[in-house]
Amino acid sequence: LLLLKYFFNQSDTNNLDYNELLMKTDGFVVQDIKDFYDKALFEAYKEGSSKKHPVIDQNCCERALKKTCSLALQNVKFHSPGSKTFDDIGGLSDVKTIMIESFLWPVKYSNIFSKAPLRLQSGLLLYGCPGTGKTLLAGAAAKQCNLRLISIKGPELLSKYIGASEQAVRDVFDKAQRAKPCVLFFDEFDSLAPRRGHDNTGVTDRVVNQFLTQLDGVESLTGVCVLAATSRPDLLDPALLRPGRLDKQILCQMPDTNDRLDILRILSRKLDFGDDVNLEEIAEKTEDFSGADLQSLLYSAQLASMKLTDDQDLDLSITQITQTLLLDALSKTRPSLTKSERRKYEQIYATFQGGN
Ligand code: ADP
Repeated sequence: LLLLKYFFNQSDTNNLDYNELLMKTDGFVVQDIKDFYDKALFEAYKEGSSKKHPVIDQNCCERALKKTCSLALQNVKFHSPGSKTFDDIGGLSDVKTIMIESFLWPVKYSNIFSKAPLRLQSGLLLYGCPGTGKTLLAGAAAKQCNLRLISIKGPELLSKYIGASEQAVRDVFDKAQRAKPCVLFFDEFDSLAPRRGHDNTGVTDRVVNQFLTQLDGVESLTGVCVLAATSRPDLLDPALLRPGRLDKQILCQMPDTNDRLDILRILSRKLDFGDDVNLEEIAEKTEDFSGADLQSLLYSAQLASMKLTDDQDLDLSITQITQTLLLDALSKTRPSLTKSERRKYEQIYATFQGGN
């Protein structure tokens, strides 16, 4: 409640029913609440064309809630792959190619692949710094290859009840079986499958064992593309990464200048830019920004452009983002990883050796 009030008190509000909001944000973490507030403010701006200031009311909140999905609520769910394809992802061209070869070919040319003596379709592990597009890639790969998507956030599969976590893993593979051809995606995989032998409760050890059993179920996995993502591949149990399991490990690099330009162009497709906007300059000045950081930067500039517009005439179609607004937003935005954090991740990736 305090967090909700903290964020919403930054704006004018009208008759907000905090008890209702509290109920509807059950399970939200701080970032979710901030996200929710930003979206509600955005809704208020859209609605407030005749008002002097944007006023957030319960309706804005309801609309914003529909667009905010708590990390904690994204449990085991079937997702429609979403509307994003590989064209909506900047950089990462090698990763996209490997994903197509691994996921699309075995489905498309199944008669050739089924004659092969080996199961050619093993699992894939995406690793890289947070915000580099790993989750985005999972959805886009499913869409691109016309596969269903089953997406699981690592921590939510773990249960404190004895046996329930292994059962959950079995159930998920079972569901995938019935949904095939599909992509079975495990996000934040390190929380689900860390090295065995370090867990006092034994829960994750048993989960890893169950994973190994499922991944080795060669027959039943045909048509199920297993994909996992993590920023800490070094914490995973190495047995999971051996041949026939998640044996293709692909690094999602932090974007370089060209990639950042590509990402900025893609993310700003629907934004209205002034003539002076020079994305090359922004790309050069955003070293250490991940794709997700670039997205927040554009979002801040967009909010600023809306605040600048004369409220009387607020019309989203005429709010323009200028270079000054972009540079101003940039001066107030830090990349989510500091240089030393980024270096630490890169050292981990440089020494990471798959299943060894
Ligand atoms: P990760 O799973 O690696 O932590 P996400 O896929 O969750 O990163 O990225 C968060 C958001 O950042 C995405 O939804 C997208 O809007 C943006 N983003 C990140 N990387 C890219 C990219 N390469 N191209 C376009 N957008 C990106």
